[in-house]
Amino acid sequence: MATSSDRKVTTRTNSAAVGRGTARPSTWGFGDGQAIPWEYAPAPESREIVQLQSRYGLFVGGKEIAPRTGQWFTTIDPATEEPLAEVARAGVEDVENAVAVARRAFRRSWGQLPGRERAKYLFRIARILQERSREFAVLETLDTGKPIKESRDVDIPLVAAHFWYYAGWADKLDYAFPGRRALPLGVAAQIIPWNFPLLMLAWKIAPALAAGNTVVLKPASSTPLSALLFADVCRQADLPPGVVNIVTGPGEIGLALVKHPDVDKVAFTGSTAVGKQIGRAIAGSGKALTLELGGKAANIDFDDAPLDQAIEGIVNGIFFNQGEVCCAGSRLLVQESIAEPLIEKLKDRLATLRVGDPLDKNTDVGAINNAAQLAKIEELIEAGVAEGAELYQPACELPSRGYFVRPTLFTNVAQSHRIAQEEIFGPVLSVLTFRTPDEAIEKANNTPYGLSAGVWTEKGSRILHMVKQLRAGVVWANTFNRFDPTSPFGGYKESGFGREGGLHGLLAYVRLEDR
Ligand code: NDP
Repeated sequence: MATSSDRKVTTRTNSAAVGRGTARPSTWGFGDGQAIPWEYAPAPESREIVQLQSRYGLFVGGKEIAPRTGQWFTTIDPATEEPLAEVARAGVEDVENAVAVARRAFRRSWGQLPGRERAKYLFRIARILQERSREFAVLETLDTGKPIKESRDVDIPLVAAHFWYYAGWADKLDYAFPGRRALPLGVAAQIIPWNFPLLMLAWKIAPALAAGNTVVLKPASSTPLSALLFADVCRQADLPPGVVNIVTGPGEIGLALVKHPDVDKVAFTGSTAVGKQIGRAIAGSGKALTLELGGKAANIDFDDAPLDQAIEGIVNGIFFNQGEVCCAGSRLLVQESIAEPLIEKLKDRLATLRVGDPLDKNTDVGAINNAAQLAKIEELIEAGVAEGAELYQPACELPSRGYFVRPTLFTNVAQSHRIAQEEIFGPVLSVLTFRTPDEAIEKANNTPYGLSAGVWTEKGSRILHMVKQLRAGVVWANTFNRFDPTSPFGGYKESGFGREGGLHGLLAYVRLEDR
């Protein structure tokens, strides 16, 4: 098999050089693995259900208000690079105002409400989210670039499920923490990323409100729209003003928000670098902190795993949401004895992935969320080739506009390669091999991260053994990327600390007192 080290990797254009001729898998599936030998008819989801405003202000005190800076920025559709709307660019004064409003709402209304009353609002929000699920799915796909079938079938249902779940706890805190009195912390500052904007909002706002806190939330600048539509849900649910506040603007206002002296709790999801900066900024302040940061998960395939099922798990593990997933299975560890047939099947499967218009219901891999992220992915693909790993990309056609990259597979990867060490946050899979379970464990744990892992084997005892040895917050057995509101999620080491989801997620928003 020829290596591709002398070729320039292009990801946006439909270059015939990339991926062609480098790896020709056998014909178990669709010919020579080059492309699907038939056309899918377009199946576009209509975007008419979304009524975009030309401008979105800040959501503070239950109202949409103009930023005191007088400044706005544009959010774009990453699949077309077309502008979607203008959004308020908040400044420090806007942050101060939002925190003051949240504090007032905590003192005067939300912090005083009995749990059973808070629950009613949360149930109402969950119901409205379900009623408006199609609108949210289309908007989320427009602003993030993720395939509509994922926003429709995964993101939005999970968003509603989190509100249902935490609504159920709001009046049962005495049972959640038996023998203790659970008190809210006060004002929560919450900063969310661009890969699952509305889901990360739900992970943070639902438990915070259930426990009696008020919030100021800052969405990522490239994906503010679903949070701003959520503001409309808050109004529709008659949530008391100031309980949820949303400020949009650059990272520096996120920093101003977490440093604000009247904030009691900080929850952040995003890059490890920013997580560390936040940790340093609030150290010694007494604020509660949860950090959900990056990952470099190992997806471990033993030779007794059902091969076809494992292939689907590997594909879901790394190509779900274009690989822009903190817990993505970006390192495939495969037992040496099955490496060859598995890689061959995997290449065939990659050739069937449909890359393109995120609003098309057939699309498997949508657009990368922003230009900077695309550049980072391209740079790491180049690094993989330069360091001697072997590249395979199916020869699928990429749209001529927008931020697209082909599904990418690297074999002959060494542990020291950057593609095996660094979080790529894109549809790029690095394959390594192992011979024994101990070797798999050692390689899997050889990362600064510790967020998730996957184990594929038919032996239950082996699963239990692996789970105990793997230093990862979540280990999936014979599946991958499964999320449930009842289940805690979070990491070790540079993947952060604290848990979101389940009772653990509620615990992060309460102060426990002895009765
Ligand atoms: P960031 O960590 O910069 O962004 C995440 C959120 O933090 C955004 O809302 C961002 O705002 C905000 N933010 C940025 N700087 C600060 C700051 N100094 N203080 C407080 N908040 C801040 O991620 P990037 O968008 O830059 O992505 C870079 C890399 O991070 C990715 O390639 C990926 O590896 C990783 N990442 C991990 C995620 C995860 O789920 N764990 C999610 C997203 C990225 P703004 O958008 O305005 O800059």
